[in-house]
Amino acid sequence: MRIIQKKHEQCLQWATALPLAIYKRLEVIKKEARHIIPILADEDEYEVKDISRHYIMKLNSHYCECGLWQISGLPCKHVVVCVNTWRKDLNDYVHPYLKKEAYLRTYSFMIHPISNESTWPEVEVDNEVQPPVKKKDFLEGLSLLEEWRQMSKEGM
Ligand SMILES: [Zn+2]
Repeated sequence: MRIIQKKHEQCLQWATALPLAIYKRLEVIKKEARHIIPILADEDEYEVKDISRHYIMKLNSHYCECGLWQISGLPCKHVVVCVNTWRKDLNDYVHPYLKKEAYLRTYSFMIHPISNESTWPEVEVDNEVQPPVKKKDFLEGLSLLEEWRQMSKEGM
């Protein structure tokens, strides 16, 4: 109960729309993207020239041939360059699960406090509930029963 409340309060204090760890990771990706050259094929589709090879990237489909964007939900360096070319907001290309709203939704629920056990009402139970019989115990019981029957037939 305290952990959920603490996480919710921490989340409310975030200055950015992203958690700090995600924000820092995105800053590192931005630095890595400096040497990349985007070649515009369409308003949505790019050929992105990296050091060793070219990648195909589709902004609106949230697809980059390197695969990092699809796996992590964070834009890869190829996406960062293309988004910056259009001066769009990079946060729009981060997966919603990694954003502040998702964290707030996660910790928005509360666990209601429960009063002390001594204040609980007495409840009478008619049926005593037994633990389930395990198959192994049941079979052992059957073999013991069979032995007992055999012994009683033989007159022991
Ligand atoms: Zn990529």
